[in-house]
Amino acid sequence: MLPQDDNIFDFDNIIDSNEVKLLLKVYAHQREWRANVQFLMEEEAVSKLVGPHGGGGLKALLAPRAERAEQLVRARGLLKVPMTSREISDVLMMAMGAYTPLDGFMGKANWRRVCLDMKLKNGLFWPIPITLSCNKQLADSIHVGQEVALVDGESDEILAILEVSEKYVADKLLECEQVYRTTDAAHPGVQKVLEQGEINLAGQVICLSEGEYPAKYPELYIRPAQARAMFLENGWSSVAAFQTRNPMQRAHEYLVKIAIEVTDGVFIHQVLGKLKPGDIPAEVRTGAIQAMIDNYFVPGTVIQAGYPIEMRYAGPREALLHALIRQNYGCSHLIVGRDHAGVGDYYGPFDAHHIFDTLWDGALETRALKIDITFFCRRCYGMATGKTCPHDESERIHISGTEQRAMLVSGEDIPLEFARPEVISILRNYYAGLAESRGSSIG
Ligand SMILES: [Zn+2]
Repeated sequence: MLPQDDNIFDFDNIIDSNEVKLLLKVYAHQREWRANVQFLMEEEAVSKLVGPHGGGGLKALLAPRAERAEQLVRARGLLKVPMTSREISDVLMMAMGAYTPLDGFMGKANWRRVCLDMKLKNGLFWPIPITLSCNKQLADSIHVGQEVALVDGESDEILAILEVSEKYVADKLLECEQVYRTTDAAHPGVQKVLEQGEINLAGQVICLSEGEYPAKYPELYIRPAQARAMFLENGWSSVAAFQTRNPMQRAHEYLVKIAIEVTDGVFIHQVLGKLKPGDIPAEVRTGAIQAMIDNYFVPGTVIQAGYPIEMRYAGPREALLHALIRQNYGCSHLIVGRDHAGVGDYYGPFDAHHIFDTLWDGALETRALKIDITFFCRRCYGMATGKTCPHDESERIHISGTEQRAMLVSGEDIPLEFARPEVISILRNYYAGLAESRGSSIG
């Protein structure tokens, strides 16, 4: 017979007894065994994927379907606060649970702590402020405790209800210096911060719509809970996310394949939010990526998906946000290439790699899979990276986006070392269509 609880012995009196020592040893062994079984059972039941950020479950703020119609009627009677495209994208991220564990837009204490220390006021890691702003006149008409309807500034569609808990002025220059490492108004992310309204509104959000995304991208619009289910179904426990806003050329294909070598599978996760002018539209990009997957990947090693984030181009800080979001999706890794989420020359090529090394223990479960620039090298006669190829720049085949566009439009051949023919043909058709509809001038 084994003891059932820790208090059964009077240890001071009998601890020298060999018999009891033996009994204790058996007991300890049994406890360890029980703990192991318990652990294995829990692991099976929950999943082998990384847990959502914050240690709790996923927090998707989209109201249950049954309540949405009623909430929408209520929202129609509320004061409307128009949102910018970036604020809309943030609401959609909250709706799907990608911003777990946030429950709304940040107040001043969180905003400040995130800017300065990359932490919420409760100490939890968070790299970029998630805020909502409006002009002073509108803010003056709102009192703390009031509920307002958050609407798409362009379409006027109601997307959410915000219960205003705080109104505050945020120091935009401080935010830009800390988050973007520049206050240059030519930086597209900084520009948006500078253009924000004067007053930030904070509070809990109830999301009522996911906008046009689910209907527009029925296959691609995959929420974190769905992604987790798909990974488990594929038998994946280590998953690398590949963030992209471009069609995949061979350099991207190689990045993804490096990740497949060291994980169970790759989540090709593209930006469906607002892009820069001149970027290739999501529909065309999706087709091009699918052509790459169908022809050059082993079935079951990649999943193509998209999400509604709008790029901030905040470089290193945004790389961290991308990793945090991927943790919520269940991805153990994020592929971080050269100048991840950067723009122009604002960030060093490896700043987005180095910032992961500055995090404290427990900040983030999702790791960066840091990979240098990838290309085809004529001397290596194969795909290589800046880390593996010792040859000169002149041996490496690189075609910029602008050059590629010009080549596609003029019908010039694109080297097979750079791009796959199935992908080129889709892009060529797209540019041909553009040229037809707009005459010969391509923007
Ligand atoms: Zn080489």
